[in-house]
Amino acid sequence: MTATFNAIALPGQPHIAYQGSDLMVEGVRLSDLARAHGTPLFVYSKAAMLSALAAYQRGFAGRQAQICYAMKANSSLAVLQVFANAGCGFDIVSAGELARVLAAGGDPAKVIFSGVGKTRAEMQQALKVGIGCFNVESEAELDVLSDVAASLGLKAPVSLRVNPNVDPKTHPYISTGLKGNKFGIAHEEALRAYRHAASLPGLKVVGIDCHIGSQITEMTPYLDAMDRVLDLVADIEAAGIPIHHIDFGGGLGINYNGDTPPEADALWAQLLAKLDARGYGQRQLMIEPGRSLVGNAGVCLTEVLYLKPGEQKNFCIVDAAMNDLPRPAMYQAFHQIVPVTAQTGEGTVYDIVGPVCESGDWIGRDRQLQVQAGDTLAVLSAGAYCMSMASNYNTRGRAAEVLVDGTQVHLIRQRESAFDTFALEQLVD
Ligand SMILES: *Cc1c(COP(=O)(O)O)cnc(C)c1O
Repeated sequence: MTATFNAIALPGQPHIAYQGSDLMVEGVRLSDLARAHGTPLFVYSKAAMLSALAAYQRGFAGRQAQICYAMKANSSLAVLQVFANAGCGFDIVSAGELARVLAAGGDPAKVIFSGVGKTRAEMQQALKVGIGCFNVESEAELDVLSDVAASLGLKAPVSLRVNPNVDPKTHPYISTGLKGNKFGIAHEEALRAYRHAASLPGLKVVGIDCHIGSQITEMTPYLDAMDRVLDLVADIEAAGIPIHHIDFGGGLGINYNGDTPPEADALWAQLLAKLDARGYGQRQLMIEPGRSLVGNAGVCLTEVLYLKPGEQKNFCIVDAAMNDLPRPAMYQAFHQIVPVTAQTGEGTVYDIVGPVCESGDWIGRDRQLQVQAGDTLAVLSAGAYCMSMASNYNTRGRAAEVLVDGTQVHLIRQRESAFDTFALEQLVD
């Protein structure tokens, strides 16, 4: 028996809500999507992506700012297309991501290339299409990039990723701006690295960047990082090296489970006040948000296969697994899990687990749910770092994806078949 749940708030997800007992994404019933496209199925709301972007755009109104979507969060072509059409550039970390940007109609001049391990071949490809900036992460990379650019008769535009040594107060696996991280150039070494960059024939210094971590839910680490970066800008410019743009990275968190990150516009009001106070408010600014643009714009639908009561634990076995939703297995991350058709009754406490042969294959622990085999559940906040991290482990084809726009539904990725997963393999004669 179903009940009416008119006002079940899904925190931070204005475009995903119950209407009556039906969980909807914009104007589309999720139970209909599961029936039409099967499960596991990722469903994204275009309006949710654009409203997350609008918070940044409001924050930067009247400033020279370029938002470069950090596409590793969700690199599906149609998602990139939404952001490209809205004027975004892209923060990429591989030549593969560059190929996706071009395939989605993105502007290479608005691409910035981050990452600690760019290969010569990747540098060449990026230079040939004329990307906007290389965010260089080590002195050794400066030499290689200069060499590659000079051999093409080009000058590579570079920014140095500096490490402000600020604790973002997030999970250690997604904290990147501390001294012990593999990312960036230490604050103390940055001026020397800039002098070195300015002396190389194949480079043109254009900016400075930092990125301190991910799922950051407080303002203070950003404000501290900004102070540290501006201190460096002053030192570098005093050494006669102009810094055209300042890139503050990404990392703003989303509400997964009662988290209370600042809104992007509120965060930028504070940061811009600091920039103004220090006299840098009219600079070209860049930011690289990933998770905060897509995380709460997506859900993953999954069917309950079996209920398996036990002495210590009850298991709810679903058809999505760690290969589709890797975040719990990787970082003990939390996703809310709700039925697509609201049910009455107390429910039972379950661990929600997938079919993969690993004890780490769980999606949620100790969740109270009123469910039966055959029901469809929605795993919330699944727009970021889910599909883009999905694998074929256990020879599971990757899920299909749909993009909802009002009442329209676009299939943006077909479900991968078993054959697709081994299409590039060969038997030996
Ligand atoms: C991952 C990453 C981002 C985006 O981080 P989010 O937490 O998804 O906003 C931005 N910049 C760099 C360099 C990154 O590696």
